Amino acid sequence: MNCSKILDMVYHYSDNDGTEDSMPMLSQIQICLHTIFCRDCAEKIERYETARHIMRNDFSPPSPRLEDSVMLKIASDGELQENVPYAVPGGLSTRGWIIAGLIIVISLGTSFFGLDFQKIADETGISFLLPFGITAGIVLTSYCVFFIGSHIKELTERFGL
Ligand SMILES: [Zn+2]
Repeated sequence: MNCSKILDMVYHYSDNDGTEDSMPMLSQIQICLHTIFCRDCAEKIERYETARHIMRNDFSPPSPRLEDSVMLKIASDGELQENVPYAVPGGLSTRGWIIAGLIIVISLGTSFFGLDFQKIADETGISFLLPFGITAGIVLTSYCVFFIGSHIKELTERFGL
C-alpha cells in the first residue's frame, strides 16, 4: 500500500459528510498502520482532518442552534415575552452580575485585609483610610449604578415600581 492510495482512501471516505463510519474496518486499519510508519501521510491526514473540522464547524454553524433561537424568538414575540428570563443583550445575566458583585466585594475585602493594614494605618494615620474608602466607594457605587441601570426593567417589574 503506497502513500497516494492511502490518501485517496482518506479523501474518498471523508467526502460523504461526516460518515467516517462507512469506511471499511480494513481500510481504517490500513490507514492507521500506514500512518504509524509514514510520518508524511500522518501529517497530511491530520492537516486534512483539521481543515475539514474547521470547515464543518466554523463555516456552516450547526442548524439546530439557529432553529432553537428562531423558535425562541417566535415564542417570545407573543404573550410569553414576559416569562423569558431577562438578560442584557451582549451583557451579563442576573447570575453573572451577582457573581461579578461577589468577586468585587471579595477582591476589595482581600486587598483590604491582605495589606499590612494596621502597620500602614499606624504610619500614615487616618489619611490612608480616605483614599481606600473613596476607591471602594467608587467601585461599589459604579457597580450598583451599572447593575440597576441594566436591570431597571426587571427591578421595576419585580417591585412594582
Ligand atoms: Zn505514506
